[in-house]
Amino acid sequence: MTDTRYLVHGVFWEGPPAVQPAEPDRTADDGGGPVLRLQSPEGEFREIALRRGHRLGFQVAEPGRFCLGHVQMRQAGSRSHVLCASAAPAIRGKQCERCFVLDESRLMHDFHRGGRVTPGLREYLMQEHWLYVATFAGGATKVGTASGPRKWSRLAEQGAAVARYVARAQDGRVVRILEDLVTADVGLTQQVRSAAKAEALLQPLPATALDAVNARAAGDVRALLARTAVDGFEPVDEQWSRPAHADALYGDAIFGNKLRHAYPHALEAGQHGFGIAALSGANALARLDGSDADFVVNLSQLAARTIVLGDFVSEVPAVQEALF
Ligand SMILES: [Zn+2]
Repeated sequence: MTDTRYLVHGVFWEGPPAVQPAEPDRTADDGGGPVLRLQSPEGEFREIALRRGHRLGFQVAEPGRFCLGHVQMRQAGSRSHVLCASAAPAIRGKQCERCFVLDESRLMHDFHRGGRVTPGLREYLMQEHWLYVATFAGGATKVGTASGPRKWSRLAEQGAAVARYVARAQDGRVVRILEDLVTADVGLTQQVRSAAKAEALLQPLPATALDAVNARAAGDVRALLARTAVDGFEPVDEQWSRPAHADALYGDAIFGNKLRHAYPHALEAGQHGFGIAALSGANALARLDGSDADFVVNLSQLAARTIVLGDFVSEVPAVQEALF
């Protein structure tokens, strides 16, 4: 069974939230239950735990990306995943043209500008939403939104270093109006690229600096919200609790001045296998056999690729000495 070709959907953090406040001696498994989600050729899902101390070994089975299917909104606000009927190559990001067009989650971004929505999507958008300000390892800061049920996991999947919720909105329309307002007035971006997050983790800012950056941005947003005429929300001041799984990737948890490097191999091909020392969003702190260095692996690069699981081992780069 080891030669089953799985399609990688990505890294998900859908377990129970991490608890607040964060204790220095908390265990490695305090929330989120991060997994790599795989789809078998029969369309069944399988999840590989990405907890600290676990090992991930795989071989990329074929070049290119394949369609992950599309999201369909059901009644009662839940979303369901529809697999790609033709297992087609991915043309639009991680989707084929047909699934891109059918994807209802795409429509939610235009709802507050008067865009068309399906009944299921309308119901999803009518639930409570949260506005947050998230800061990443290098200090890049964004404004974003999360639906009620995804309040904590959305930020865990983004790989935030520090984050604060700044408003609770009555629905997904109001929260996106606020989000656009924050971008226009405070200048906060709505997107930080995955590659930028990975790169910043090579040299994260100290925890106190990251918290100061986030607190200042959240304060600016709250000041803006206090004078806006938009109805249907209440300002909040609530810190997001970062999962302990991520701690070893961040500043004050770097022990013994251990050196850290970008993972030296592209994930689009080849054999890979490493121990997971920490995980923030989709970025893992990897330990390679035969090396004392730490490596940051951006697992989001595996999304929409096909892999075979197994006892594979990443090659330690021959130029490693030159890195030190
Ligand atoms: Zn498709």
